Amino acid sequence: MISLYDILHAANGQLFGEPASHLFTDFCLDPRDAGPSLLYVAIRSPKQDTHQYIEQAIQNGVSGVLCIEPPTCDASGVSILMVDEPVEALLLWAKATLTKLQIKTLAVAGSSGTSIAIESIGLVLSQKYSVHYDQVSVSGRLGVALSLAKIQPEHDFAVIKFDTQQMGDMAILVECLNPVAAIIPSSACVITDAFQSCADWYAELSILTAAIPDQGLIALNQDDPENRHLNLAPNAHLKIVSIHEFGADWMAYNIITSSNGTGFDVRHENERYKGRWFPILGEFNLYSVLLALVTGEFYKIADADALKSLTNLKPLPGHMNPFIGKNGCLLVDDSFSANPAGTLAILDWLEKIKNEDQRTIFVLGDMDANSRHYDMVAYRNLGKKIAEGVDILIAQGIQASEIARSALAHGMDANNVTITFGLYDSVQAVERLNLDSNDILLVKGGRQTRLELFVSHFLSQESDKQQLVSQARVESNENLVRPLSPSWIELDYNALSANLRYIQSRLLDNQKLMAVIKADAYGHGAVPVARVALLNGADYLAVANISEALTLRQNGITAPILVMGYIPIDAVSMAIRENITVALYSLEIAEMYNRAANEYGDILKGHIKIDTGMGRLGIFADDAVKAFRHMLTLKSLVIEGIYTHFSSPDSNRDYTNQQVDTFKRVLRPILASGLKIPYIHASNSAGMLIVDDPIFNLVRVGLSLYGLNPSSIAPIKSGLLTPILSWKTVIAQIKEFPPQAMIGYSNTYQTSEREKIAILPVGYADGMRRSPAWKEVLIHGKRAPIVGRISMEKCAVKVDHIDNISLGDEVVLIGKQGDDQITADEVAGWLGTISYEIITSVMPRQPRH
Ligand SMILES: *Cc1c(COP(=O)(O)O)cnc(C)c1O
Repeated sequence: MISLYDILHAANGQLFGEPASHLFTDFCLDPRDAGPSLLYVAIRSPKQDTHQYIEQAIQNGVSGVLCIEPPTCDASGVSILMVDEPVEALLLWAKATLTKLQIKTLAVAGSSGTSIAIESIGLVLSQKYSVHYDQVSVSGRLGVALSLAKIQPEHDFAVIKFDTQQMGDMAILVECLNPVAAIIPSSACVITDAFQSCADWYAELSILTAAIPDQGLIALNQDDPENRHLNLAPNAHLKIVSIHEFGADWMAYNIITSSNGTGFDVRHENERYKGRWFPILGEFNLYSVLLALVTGEFYKIADADALKSLTNLKPLPGHMNPFIGKNGCLLVDDSFSANPAGTLAILDWLEKIKNEDQRTIFVLGDMDANSRHYDMVAYRNLGKKIAEGVDILIAQGIQASEIARSALAHGMDANNVTITFGLYDSVQAVERLNLDSNDILLVKGGRQTRLELFVSHFLSQESDKQQLVSQARVESNENLVRPLSPSWIELDYNALSANLRYIQSRLLDNQKLMAVIKADAYGHGAVPVARVALLNGADYLAVANISEALTLRQNGITAPILVMGYIPIDAVSMAIRENITVALYSLEIAEMYNRAANEYGDILKGHIKIDTGMGRLGIFADDAVKAFRHMLTLKSLVIEGIYTHFSSPDSNRDYTNQQVDTFKRVLRPILASGLKIPYIHASNSAGMLIVDDPIFNLVRVGLSLYGLNPSSIAPIKSGLLTPILSWKTVIAQIKEFPPQAMIGYSNTYQTSEREKIAILPVGYADGMRRSPAWKEVLIHGKRAPIVGRISMEKCAVKVDHIDNISLGDEVVLIGKQGDDQITADEVAGWLGTISYEIITSVMPRQPRH
């Protein structure tokens, strides 16, 4: 039970009006989870402010609200408690409660194994004591406070995960919760944005181990070499466990690893306990179990009782939880979280349990979002381990694709590696494998990858879905990790693959798809877009220059690539070596390329480009046949295709038809000669909507891949394509200006009355435009007009009409928010240009998320 007055006193808070309920059964962070007897906690952090949802939480029935500022809506019948900082208030409440009730805190910390350790310790100590050991899916300090909601006066112990997300968290947790024991299954260093070096990480953990009081307990895993970096309190009792070394207080040996549990013998002092068996997968989890035995011993639980209690141990959701999967395969769900060390550990398990006749399929998502900081050494090691022990790898996401590339570099067969960027494509990739009962499907990824949805798809029993982690709300709470940069791009790769499927459905039967990904895939990121396109049926890629093509090759993309523009003569040998196709847009160029290819001693592939009225690169239609004949004599060139480009297929049907006729006039004698040219192409996105002549067996599609409408004369019905790019920022400051105040450079805007203005940390250097100017943004789903000049990296918007607005709120520059949407087309209208220019000029320096 949570008492309003306990929080009030502990945090020196203030009631707003008459309180109604003063006892609550639990906390609530998300208004969608609201209900009677819950206390809604409004969070304000640099990332997010959830005060804006108080009204919804009250409407949905919460009994109380803990907040910094009181709600402006009708809150009668609801207790409102105001504090300076809700997370801090809750920790102060936890401190006061644990002190008053004289409950001892046992801290479990480290980079992996903590959840199983808490569960095991809870079971063991419950043999003799009343123990609180709830686990919640919210991480960090807030999660710690939330996990104490159900604490009761009769509890003797609280076993708590000391989850540190940034430097300084541990000191606060130690100060508030006064742990008498530190239990650490793994000290393996985690590099994140917050812990930029291992030294940071060890220092943070050491705050806990150094704070354990005299006669307290420090329990460590002896086999973990990184323990030596910890500072230990000198007068605490140090106990160690091991599964290798005889010196340990508790040791497991004769370990049997299997696909449905782990068996072992245990040695404690001179006692041996043989033939123990737990339905927990993975040798690494034994450390957590042994640490629970150590803790039990320390608090005077008899060995036999402790061991017996652990037979009730069950896998936790998302922690190596085995299911019967589709077609009888073994499906192991480890989707709760992911860091490199934990991933190595589960691969160990996989290697140990695999039989000769079994096939192992590893589905790996990106590591936890807070470890975005690339740890290349760890990735290389993971890639090596995967190459050695996994038959088939499905890697989903940017980081996972780095790991996949390392697996390839360590000799894994490219046919057994699929790189995807979304759930849909990952599911398809595994569907294609035709699972059977000899398969082991192991699934691991960071929280934000939502791989529990993947697991859900491959369960054979519907009822097992209840045993999955629910990460659904992770995105909407404090855990949300945003880039350090104040504005960023979000890409929806599931929408990209859906767009590709729609485009496929519009192709003629004999047509292939060339995905046009020049200009870094129109600003969307060429490598991931190329991969998604190739997974969803694209046959060929097109870029503008050789360096773009080489980037794709360097990233392991082997599909054919056409460079549609000029390449320097010096690059011809490179093009040949890397199997890159060039555009032959004049006889002169063809001769030069031929000479260079001849000198290099190999053949260069080319597509002849005809200018049928575009007035850009290309051979005039009237000169085409003669040029073609001559090119046939160039022995170091092979003609793989011939193409033209339309100038106005989005707006002028007649002109486009004329271009088609001109091109066909060129093609007729060439095709009549009996010569086979594999690819004949003309249409871009807009062209394919109005030209449906099967003589063209390839289309070059750019804009529609990205979900934008290419044509005003044959528009694609809304809803069939989805824009894949959103551009977002946050509110940096909110100010009430008096009347007649000037806003921004050159005083171009003057307030006419008292006006509320929000300053946004984004400007023309980030891809906005100063003049003609960007007009509006979305905040809380409402339009906010830009006022005054747009600066290099700042601008101002008027927000009087938007309620409950605060620092850190999300602002949408392009994309959806609430029921409204700002499309690249709309912005293009403001700026007097086309959507192409908008998306490609939202600066490549924007971080992608
Ligand atoms: C960019 C480009 C395309 C793709 O055009 P979209 O309108 O984006 O589909 C096709 N062909 C050529 C030659 C291009 O330069």
